[in-house]
Amino acid sequence: MTQTSYEKYNLKEVINASGKMTILGVSKVSDRVKKAQAQAGDSFYEMADLSKQTGAYIAKLVGSEDALVVSSASAGIAQSIAALIGQGSRYHLYHPYERRGEKREIIMPKGHNVDYGTGIDVMIAQGGGELVEAGYANRCTSEDLEMMITDQTAAILYVKSHHTVQKSMVSIEEAIKVAKGNNLPFILDAAAEEDLTGYIQMGADLVIYSGAKAIEGPSSGLVVGKATYIEWVRMQGLGLGRSMKIGKENILGFTQALEDYVTNGSESGEAMKARLAPFVKSLNEIPDVSCRSIQDGAGREIYRAEVTISGGKSASEVITELKAKSPAVYTRDYRSNNGIIEFDIRAVNEQEMLKITTRLSEIMQ
Ligand SMILES: *Cc1c(COP(=O)(O)O)cnc(C)c1O
Repeated sequence: MTQTSYEKYNLKEVINASGKMTILGVSKVSDRVKKAQAQAGDSFYEMADLSKQTGAYIAKLVGSEDALVVSSASAGIAQSIAALIGQGSRYHLYHPYERRGEKREIIMPKGHNVDYGTGIDVMIAQGGGELVEAGYANRCTSEDLEMMITDQTAAILYVKSHHTVQKSMVSIEEAIKVAKGNNLPFILDAAAEEDLTGYIQMGADLVIYSGAKAIEGPSSGLVVGKATYIEWVRMQGLGLGRSMKIGKENILGFTQALEDYVTNGSESGEAMKARLAPFVKSLNEIPDVSCRSIQDGAGREIYRAEVTISGGKSASEVITELKAKSPAVYTRDYRSNNGIIEFDIRAVNEQEMLKITTRLSEIMQ
């Protein structure tokens, strides 16, 4: 019998009930994607053409002028920032952080400057941008955005994510209106979002996705948008983007994943609820555990098992114990302070649910 990677490298088996988490490897990929990756690994390409042609193929699928597969959404953010600062300048390409009169200010609502594993502001700085925060941690209106615009503004960046402050924030449409009214490019970080067409239709100039989140591709990212801007982003591969290179295997694996996602969508909310029901029922049979199915806080079509822990142990203690053994069960812990643990089942199969129930009963005995 061949060894698993768990055995060979002395690693814990992980059950990922936390959602799309970079620290756990984000997604499982489909057999079709693995096949596309394997075929790419067996072949050579003119890489410049591979980038252009897969971009054109994706652009047609999502209804944008052009597209570019990159190594991660983070790389997409940094390179988009660099692109809009350099605007195609060869000098800027080789001196991305040197001042020669370019506009470098990137305006973003303060409540969007979040930590997703690193700060959005780190990626802006990597792209050579200077962050200008608009509004306050808990409020940003169109006016708050507009008043920060100067003759040094290069772009407006908006982050659509459950990580950001959701209340009292300017909407995407309103922010686009401000950008258009001031002739500024509008960049949207939609890393974990499921909508691949809507933001372009709204008028966003560059939209950035993470390849392994909703789209369930291999490690990768995607930038879609205006042809000129995408060309400037692509050009960064000859400059600061070189350290963010993506290989042919993941370019073709991602493109396959995106095509499958556009064709089939992700698991429907109804299907998720149906898979969740028996799991919720079995969790409810564990002492000091009460469980119900809830919808995602940001309103996405994602349903999760919400477990409330009562009795002797705190939710944080239970979370720690769930991770301690192999298989290690990772959960969504945002609400553990309130005694709540969430189980995200998008990447959890029936067999794994059984293992979770067994492990949680052991812990609660
Ligand atoms: C995950 C995430 C990113 C980064 O995506 P990577 O592909 O891991 O670089 C950026 N922005 C937001 C809002 C995210 O959720």
